[in-house]
Amino acid sequence: MEVFAVPDLPEIREGDDLAALIDERVDLREDDVVCVASTVVSKAEGRAFDLDAFPPGPRATEIADRLSAIAGEERDPRFAQAVLEESTELLMEAPFLLTATRFGHVGVNAGIDRSNVPGSDVLLLPERPAESAERLREGVAADRVVVTDTCGRPFRHGQRGVAIGHAGLPAARDWRGETDRDGREMGVTVQNVIDELAAAANLVAGEGDGGTPAVVVRDWPFGDHEGSQAHFRDVEGDFVRQAIREWQYEG
Ligand code: GDP
Ligand code: MN
Ligand code: MN
Repeated sequence: MEVFAVPDLPEIREGDDLAALIDERVDLREDDVVCVASTVVSKAEGRAFDLDAFPPGPRATEIADRLSAIAGEERDPRFAQAVLEESTELLMEAPFLLTATRFGHVGVNAGIDRSNVPGSDVLLLPERPAESAERLREGVAADRVVVTDTCGRPFRHGQRGVAIGHAGLPAARDWRGETDRDGREMGVTVQNVIDELAAAANLVAGEGDGGTPAVVVRDWPFGDHEGSQAHFRDVEGDFVRQAIREWQYEG
């Protein structure tokens, strides 16, 4: 397979036809996977705001006070308010804000970014990234689209690319029922291919000022496997999430 960046994309602004901007810069094939950084999807969808748009309520003020005390420097209660408004569940409020977004993604600060947003204070994630992916898919010559973000993860240092929305392909390859080299039937493995594609794309997209938010994955066959649309875990089946709910930071 080949993984390459879409060249020469401009600074993306609200209302831009992102799909057209991508499509006119690369000769896409039907089975390409176009991976697009949520940053530019959000910009096109008008998700950049000034912090004044989030007048803090008492809960946000309380959270920001606690975070300020932990950090030893001022944390903006308007930012905490923005995170709360983007979230359906607050999993941790110290020593950082870990929340679940409305579309099911669990992340620090509800995925709100403060970098790569010229002219505004914050950039929220797309409201419904699966729908964003579907719209992009309709506007480009490729049939498969993944919307990505850079995200930290538990147990490991550093951040990596993850998928937050997808269209035109299953989220996962279901290997259950297939056999290993020993003839043993696999009972567990559901390979989340959209996260793996997002990670590969993010490797090429970079993080800072690279200017390459869209990446094409070419000649990657899904293969002859069952597909699964499962991506974000349901709360009921997510025991780590349930454990985090019970945990309290004592610092
Ligand atoms: P995130 O991972 O979705 O939060 O996005 P990043 O801020 O890490 O940006 C991913 C890539 O897109 C980096 O190479 C950035 O330089 C680039 N990028 C961000 N915004 C724009 C934009 O408006 N236009 C272009 N051409 N590149 C951008
Ligand atoms: Mn981001
Ligand atoms: Mn990134």
